[in-house]
Amino acid sequence: MFEALGNRLQGVFDRLRGRGALSESDVSDALREVRVALLEADVALPVVRDIIAKVRERAVGQEVIRSIQPGQQVVKIVHDALVEALGGGDEGARGLDLNAPSPIPILMVGLQGSGKTTTSGKIALRLKGRERKKVLLASLDVHRPAAQLQLAQLAERAEVVSLPIVAGQSPLQIAERAMDLGRRELYDVVILDTAGRLAIDDALMDEVAAVKAAVKPHETLLVVDAMTGQDSVNTARAFNERVGITGIVMTRVDGDARGGAALSMRAVTGAPIKLLGAGEKLDALEEFHPDRIANRILG
Ligand code: GDP
Repeated sequence: MFEALGNRLQGVFDRLRGRGALSESDVSDALREVRVALLEADVALPVVRDIIAKVRERAVGQEVIRSIQPGQQVVKIVHDALVEALGGGDEGARGLDLNAPSPIPILMVGLQGSGKTTTSGKIALRLKGRERKKVLLASLDVHRPAAQLQLAQLAERAEVVSLPIVAGQSPLQIAERAMDLGRRELYDVVILDTAGRLAIDDALMDEVAAVKAAVKPHETLLVVDAMTGQDSVNTARAFNERVGITGIVMTRVDGDARGGAALSMRAVTGAPIKLLGAGEKLDALEEFHPDRIANRILG
């Protein structure tokens, strides 16, 4: 992810750094190129405008232009604006919030194919390993019979328990059975993997909203595929409006996604990206650090 954007920006900044002195028009020219690079990376237009306006305001000041390394200063200003768009500095580096009484329900939502079930398995493995948590996985997907089996197989690979499959139950019944078992057998975390659809529809949203109202999850994580670009931002907006989410997991960042969605999510949805899926393997899950991502983009 971000490869093309990174290359474009590095080209712009190499030219800026190469110059001893900068005029306002040098900065304006560079910002025009940064703007095009961001748009080509599929960053949402209002977010591009905001980033460029901030950078212009901070970079056109006389202090920057008169400083000893003006090019370097402009790069730093762009870096900081990217960090802000990605959700903030150190405080932007968020893992999951596990500060709640056990069993902590985590609701996984998203479109079919986004990587929701795989991510549920990854989170279970991480919580079991790093955090030493006792984790229960449960699939509420009654629409695709294979989905519950897929989660059970993932649970086996992660060596965590999955809720026994009972045919004929509704998503709500499964969720309640999972929370009951979680309470009875003293699980720390219960991960509830909801059904996805190929596109957003009312039935999907109603089902997810009903489960959310009943279970009151501590985290409602939306899983989106970075490769779907602006569509993933629209998906996030819709889920946030209809269901309410506490965080986003962006998957397939190991692919060649242009990355604009990651830069747009916070401004468009208000929800932070918490984790990144970076491969098919169960340990391919990364925490989201805005600062590191900005460094990755700027090289
Ligand atoms: P769901 O329908 O949302 O539950 O999606 P799945 O979890 O079944 O994932 C769909 C496909 O995407 C599977 O083949 C996964 O192995 C793959 N996948 C999930 N996350 C990632 C990721 O971060 N990177 C890559 N390359 N593939 C992923």
